Amino acid sequence: MANAPVLLLKEGTQRSSGRDALKNNILAAVTLAEMLKSSLGPRGLDKMLIDSFGDVTITNDGATIVKEMEIQHPAAKLLVEAAKAQDAEVGDGTTSAVVLAGLLLDKADDLLDQNIHPTIIIEGYKKALNKSLEIIDQLATKIDVSNLNSPATRDQLKKIVYTTMSSKFIAGGEEMDKIMNMVIDAVSIVAEPLPEGGYNVPLDLIKIDKKKGGSIEDSMLVHGLVLDKEVVHPGMPRRVEKAKIAVLDAALEVEKPEISAKISITSPEQIKAFLDEEAKYLKDMVDKLASIGANVVICQKGIDDVAQHFLAKKGILAVRRVKRSDIEKLEKALGARIISSIKDATPEDLGYAELVEERRVGNDKMVFIEGAKNPKAVNILLRGSNDMALDEAERSINDALHSLRNVLMKPMIVAGGGAVETELALRLREYARSVGGKEQLAIEKFAEALEEIPMILAETAGMEPIQTLMDLRAKHAKGLINSGVDVMNGKIADDMLALNVLEPVRVKAQVLKSAVEAATAILKIDDLIAAAPLKS
Ligand code: ADP
Repeated sequence: MANAPVLLLKEGTQRSSGRDALKNNILAAVTLAEMLKSSLGPRGLDKMLIDSFGDVTITNDGATIVKEMEIQHPAAKLLVEAAKAQDAEVGDGTTSAVVLAGLLLDKADDLLDQNIHPTIIIEGYKKALNKSLEIIDQLATKIDVSNLNSPATRDQLKKIVYTTMSSKFIAGGEEMDKIMNMVIDAVSIVAEPLPEGGYNVPLDLIKIDKKKGGSIEDSMLVHGLVLDKEVVHPGMPRRVEKAKIAVLDAALEVEKPEISAKISITSPEQIKAFLDEEAKYLKDMVDKLASIGANVVICQKGIDDVAQHFLAKKGILAVRRVKRSDIEKLEKALGARIISSIKDATPEDLGYAELVEERRVGNDKMVFIEGAKNPKAVNILLRGSNDMALDEAERSINDALHSLRNVLMKPMIVAGGGAVETELALRLREYARSVGGKEQLAIEKFAEALEEIPMILAETAGMEPIQTLMDLRAKHAKGLINSGVDVMNGKIADDMLALNVLEPVRVKAQVLKSAVEAATAILKIDDLIAAAPLKS
């Protein structure tokens, strides 16, 4: 009997396996990492991304770039996942993580060419990672965060924010100074000391709003919350002190029936009676709110004209159509309970703030809520001339907030500018010799990958990469563990810490972990089976 063909896969499925699949995946991942390389560091270049709707994003933030790029290749998508994991975990170091993952894969490719099995490479990389984490802890400098308001600590924190932000702002500018101070103030307000040292920093208490107009220097930190809304009625007060605030997710409107209903009215009296009934319903709701003591009403839904009129008559300041996310923040900040059914509202549902006031911001009005019951509520109100500037400022604030959170959680820092990477490479090579065998080769490749970081930074500064690495190696061999690439001045510096180029240990450790995780995930794949795309 002739052998019948065995059909395992659907027609049109593409399959590549073994070395081919792996090579193909590595190539895709390395290509993506290559693209990001030129964005690394303070002199990294921006990418301009245009999405399918024609919206433009200009950024050098790794996480944003990979998110917006709509990557297709499955292996490159794994790197995107690494960037997202990095972003979610520590909120910083995304470019570094993707670039390093690509470098690790590129080096792995050399080993594959020497017929070293992927499993050995994975093992070697894992060992190198664990050793690196150990070494980083030894190299790190502890910082004193016992008093967040002491000038010395603030200074130290400023240095940390500086490194994070310098890749996005013109370093040293007034804009940057303004933002740095706001970010440090915001974090000092929300930080909660932990018994075992360090702090918990709930970043969700820090609300960030963007309002077009003015310049970045007009941005402000509000001790409380800001709503991008106006007071709904001209007859209402614009300022309420000792505000007792009802936070509603119910509408102050007469509900329209879901199904269309027909009301037959035969006389003018009936119309009046009908309208009176509606007005009475709204008046009852307003009376109820007034009776529990509310003098400010913040509503997620609409407030009908008639209800506005009654509220104004009671001297209640009201704001409507507030975002759900803001309503939830208000609940926490004001110590309020969201009211869904007005007729069941009680005085205990009300939140409290020292002051609620409508103020002019640029050409618009916004409602400021200050001195909230929860003293930890803060709001950064960003100003800027256009959406792109505002978005980029928001991203760098987020980076800065995260890096402060990282140092406050684990108050240890290492030198940036490729200093740690060079020192790690030096010590890993020594360690590799003690491991021996083929894994030794993998650990050495890991060290080589790390050394590419200072080379890339050197390149962004127009320096000769290989010469820079040679010089750096010589310095580290002499014991200058913090010497790195001073990108801003285009030369090697003996002590990056003295230049304020430093990074939280938590970030650096996570960069290494994310990169190794992504690289090893790709190295484990030896079969690529792709179904034929659906025909549309
Ligand atoms: P990431 O998304 O990984 O945080 P960045 O573009 O912020 O990427 O670049 C981070 C890298 O740039 C780190 O290796 C950091 O040490 C380095 N770096 C930042 N500022 C400087 C500086 N002034 N001089 C040299 N290197 C710097």
